[in-house]
Amino acid sequence: MTRFDSFAMVDWSGGNDRGSAPKPDAIWLGLTRGADDTSPVYLRNRGVAEHALSALIETELTAGRRLMIGFDFPFGYPAGFAQALTGEPDPLAVWTWLERHIEDTPKTNNRFDVAGRINRQLGNGAGPFWGNARPKHDIPGLPRRKQGYRNPFPDRRACETLASGSFTCWQLAGAGAVGSQVLMGLPVLNRLRRRFAGQVSVWPFQPLDTSVVFVEIWPGLINSAVKQAEVQGGIRDAHQVRLLARALARLPRPALRAMLDITAPEEGWIMGLGHEDKLNRAAGADRLQPPPLRDDCFALPAGVDWTPVDDALALLRDRLHPVVGQEVLPLMQAQGRVLAENVSARRSNPPQPNTAVDGYCFAHATLPPGDPVLPLVQGRAAAGVPFDGAVPPGHAIRVLTGAALPDGVDTVILQEDVTASETEIAFRSGIRPGANTRNAGEDVAEGDTILSAGRTLTPADLALASATGLSDLPVHHRLRVAVISTGDELVEPGTPAAPGQIFDANRPMLLALARQFGFDTLDLGRIPDDRAALRAAFDRGAQQADLILTSGGASAGDEDHVSALLNETGAMAEWRIAVKPGRPLALGMWAGTPVFGLPGNPVAALVCTLIFARPAMARLAGAGWHSPQGFTLPAAFTKTKKPGRREYLRARIRDGRAEAFKSEGSGRISGLSWAEGLIELPDGPLEITPGTPVTFLPFTGFL
Ligand code: AMP
Ligand code: MG
Repeated sequence: MTRFDSFAMVDWSGGNDRGSAPKPDAIWLGLTRGADDTSPVYLRNRGVAEHALSALIETELTAGRRLMIGFDFPFGYPAGFAQALTGEPDPLAVWTWLERHIEDTPKTNNRFDVAGRINRQLGNGAGPFWGNARPKHDIPGLPRRKQGYRNPFPDRRACETLASGSFTCWQLAGAGAVGSQVLMGLPVLNRLRRRFAGQVSVWPFQPLDTSVVFVEIWPGLINSAVKQAEVQGGIRDAHQVRLLARALARLPRPALRAMLDITAPEEGWIMGLGHEDKLNRAAGADRLQPPPLRDDCFALPAGVDWTPVDDALALLRDRLHPVVGQEVLPLMQAQGRVLAENVSARRSNPPQPNTAVDGYCFAHATLPPGDPVLPLVQGRAAAGVPFDGAVPPGHAIRVLTGAALPDGVDTVILQEDVTASETEIAFRSGIRPGANTRNAGEDVAEGDTILSAGRTLTPADLALASATGLSDLPVHHRLRVAVISTGDELVEPGTPAAPGQIFDANRPMLLALARQFGFDTLDLGRIPDDRAALRAAFDRGAQQADLILTSGGASAGDEDHVSALLNETGAMAEWRIAVKPGRPLALGMWAGTPVFGLPGNPVAALVCTLIFARPAMARLAGAGWHSPQGFTLPAAFTKTKKPGRREYLRARIRDGRAEAFKSEGSGRISGLSWAEGLIELPDGPLEITPGTPVTFLPFTGFL
């Protein structure tokens, strides 16, 4: 039985709060009922939580809803403990034993005494439990630290060896420890179990044939979704329970079934362990999806016939917005991704004043008149190994590059400029105060915005983020670009070509370009001039990609099925752009996914991709608007350019001048390969002779 109507997730706490202001370290309850997420509820102590859980169970039972409740502490101890403590291997016998022995009120509880008692009984007072949060109150048999501690049982449960970052249930105190939550939480669960006898089962120890199921959870599994949410602020524990409830509610049933299908009769298991990707996706999925593009986003203003290039670009820029979701990635995996949010420095760089050279440092104001001779303080400061102490006035100390300046000094003299003995240094007067030092934060101050949303992360960006204390970055998912070639005449390279057939040139080019831009690609192959086949390819593209690039069949002829199909959906726009080379560009939406219908001619296909599709794709990918970087060079050729259209010539630089390919024939693929960039000629007329300044756009400037 894996159908549940409601999912309640509880972040338990070892502490017990009496106030009413929500605190991070308290009990939080997240509830998703059907498709509705509710706001996390703050339960200030275990008494309040037990009451709230009882009420929730009542409500759901009365309404006939099946309820899963998750608790974030182990339901079982490592193998052998249940038998040793209770005489039977049943973990639920431990629950009952604890319920009988734990006393718990908001003011006080006996968890350390119970742990000490178990240690004396089962481990000669040296384990299995350790840690004591009461500074002045030693407990017989309960070691405060792990040193000297001996555990007669395994340190971890099998599932914990897989859950990196999880704590063992034996540790009762210290940041992150979970041991106290188990001791204090299991008695509460056992009381609920008795109160709703026959209606509650405990996973994975009992058959799940009841209306209420308790499962063990661990919010560490959805860390990346939680980090994403935390960027907006709020309490971490509250995000955890809210997102986990939502994730479980949204998981497809087979995925939930797979998570529940576990055999761990004694130790229990963490629900969802090994399925982290699915959980994180389900936790984040809807919040992180940007709105779809409007169906009429490619519509031209009425009466427009030939659109100047700049107007076409302005339209794309205004009408398109990012369509990709977000995730948080470890810094090391973020290169080439588009940053989804502004990021600020967690720490200054440098974090403290330090020395820029190897030498000796001192307080400038305490220098004697004339050429100084200063006594040396014993010891030194090196990078990562600071000097522990202050340097008295009139003294100096040895420092190595990168070392934090010790207290009491502000100036460093280069080692080459001093004469040094074991006990003294001497140097010429005249050094400037603060010489050879770097101030704290002189590069970046804590809180400064270091990288802005929309930036494609470079290796240097990763250095900056790392130096200023960041380990994860919020990034966009990669844009996924589907590529289709259309035309009955096309065959695959490597296969025989009959007369009249040609090898597909555009698909390899467009797929490679998309990859160079940093996008994921989906190759949808060659599609004949057949509407049904093209429709099927569009359907697949719309399902699996964020954007479809087609080439060929984009004009208004009989065999131009791309435009015909897009026309069917009513969301087609034929953009006649005043550009050469380039036939009309067919732009449309297919099931919510934008389609760029490029000309079939490879030269025109490349130019239109670089000039129009490239900036549009950057925008869809969250990278803002992308204008290629160009520069002015003297021409190495002669040409009379007519007014009316902007022209792009295949070009390259030789001897500091821009050469154009010998032929402007738009079928000449060899010219594309010859070229290293494009010359952009303005919309108006232009007489070009050798030496005339022209704009060169290197292909690398489009990346
Ligand atoms: P179309 O836009 O379909 O009329 O095609 C214009 C020209 O480009 C025709 O000569 C096509 O054969 C050619 N063409 C179309 N697609 C490709 C392709 N994928 N590779 C090479 N040439 C193509
Ligand atoms: Mg064709």
